[in-house]
Amino acid sequence: MTSHLLSGLMAKAPAADKPFIKVAGGRTITYGDLVKESARLAATLVELGVRPGDRVAVQVDKSAEAIVLYLATVRAGAIFLPLNTAYTLTELDYFLGDAEPRLVVCDPAKYDGIKELAGRHGIAAVETLDGEGRGSLVDKAAALPDAAAAAFVDAPRGADDLAAILYTSGTTGRSKGAMLSHDNLLSNALTLVDYWRFTDQDVLLHALPIFHTHGLFVATNTILAAGATMLFLPKFDADKVMALLPEATSMMGVPTFYTRLLQHDGLTRDATAHIRLFVSGSAPLLAETHREWRERTGHAILERYGMTETNMNTSNPYDGDRIAGTVGYPLPGVDLRVVDADTRQAVGPDGIGVIEVRGPNVFKGYWRNPEKTQEEFRADGFFITGDLGKVDTAGYVHIVGRAKDLIISGGFNVYPKEIEEAIDDLPGVVESAVIGLPHPDFGEGVVAAVVADPQNPADPATIAAALAERLAKFKQPKHVFIVDELPRNTMGKVQKNILRQRFADVFQRQAG
Ligand code: ATP
Ligand code: MG
Repeated sequence: MTSHLLSGLMAKAPAADKPFIKVAGGRTITYGDLVKESARLAATLVELGVRPGDRVAVQVDKSAEAIVLYLATVRAGAIFLPLNTAYTLTELDYFLGDAEPRLVVCDPAKYDGIKELAGRHGIAAVETLDGEGRGSLVDKAAALPDAAAAAFVDAPRGADDLAAILYTSGTTGRSKGAMLSHDNLLSNALTLVDYWRFTDQDVLLHALPIFHTHGLFVATNTILAAGATMLFLPKFDADKVMALLPEATSMMGVPTFYTRLLQHDGLTRDATAHIRLFVSGSAPLLAETHREWRERTGHAILERYGMTETNMNTSNPYDGDRIAGTVGYPLPGVDLRVVDADTRQAVGPDGIGVIEVRGPNVFKGYWRNPEKTQEEFRADGFFITGDLGKVDTAGYVHIVGRAKDLIISGGFNVYPKEIEEAIDDLPGVVESAVIGLPHPDFGEGVVAAVVADPQNPADPATIAAALAERLAKFKQPKHVFIVDELPRNTMGKVQKNILRQRFADVFQRQAG
């Protein structure tokens, strides 16, 4: 393999019979299978007209074949562009128009709709990945004459060539395509193998989707670079995770995985004694979850922080203290600073500001959006993450929230996380989300959406009275809405945009 990314990831050259992916209840792909099948698939992509620099857009359910397709795309010198399986045709319309892929790969059930949509964007090549006899990519690759497969030569690609375009989750606005180079992905994978001590003895329990940086790059690239094995569950299910745990050595998950597993009776010290590492990321892990997990299992979950644009930025230490409510230290090679949002001056320890990062992990810019790229980079190469945080005196990074979610009420800064923590501590509350909504006197008013505990539900008046004792007046919610659940995306991130839309009118009527 001659590309920068793949020659680096496969440098350990695991034995051909070493399992790479074991699909729960399904097939096992060995490293030997991976090398052979990705070459066949890459040759098939080339036959379909895919050339170096072309985008291959992929919206498929999780499977081992989808991961083989990722590597095949890179071997063909093209750019892998995964899309969330939840996207509807209306949403895909934007992504296909923006990405202009050479080829779209989808599941059979979505083929007709996507074929029609792609046609409207002038994209002729639409293929299914596998199954249902439509002459899928996997079938075409299998039918390739041996001589043609053997003659396949990887497209040479260098450190700065693009390996992937990954769209951001769209939590704060329209998703943006982040251009990730071969070295962005490789350097981060090698750092994580080292930092998290992955070896070829590891078996990673993988229940994440594979269209985000977490399941695709953090998990898959790290496992490849370590020559280790992944245990694939198509989607998270607490019973299934508990059943697979005996075969695993480690797990990567989002906070909701951990909160749901804590509700499972099977989660005990004994059931997890053989696991060496539990990692959490993509959304904040509540300090309470961290503590409960430690009490139940004896393991301190290792929380890390990253984003589509930057891969992983920080991690709690492997050996040192993994401190609840923090995302640890900047990873080796990552420069991280916290600056004042207005003056852009660096703030000292414990001062809250905007987090900026620089390093080999940081992406090459937003696809077809040079203005946005320019806006989000400083002249000295630092990327403005849009997250608010602080670095404490011990050097641990804390994420305080998103700059876009900061509420300015009557001229005072209100950090939603502080209010959410105060609310979540109250009896009769399961969880909460705090947002700012337009207010005639204060500019923005603090508003809380609270999920009450069905056993012993807290009511808005009690919540307001309890908060009045704990929080300064300007931080107290002007209104508390009780909701059945918080809107969340597939990675468990709370979608505050949806809450803002939902409550803006009601709040305005009350405030006005
Ligand atoms: P968009 O950029 O489209 O609004 P998004 O920022 O949610 O969406 P991602 O790149 O998937 O898209 O998510 C990165 C963000 O997730 C980070 O900027 C940060 O806000 C949040 N995040 C990731 N890990 C953590 C963590 N451990 N604690 C708190 N927040 C985290
Ligand atoms: Mg973002």
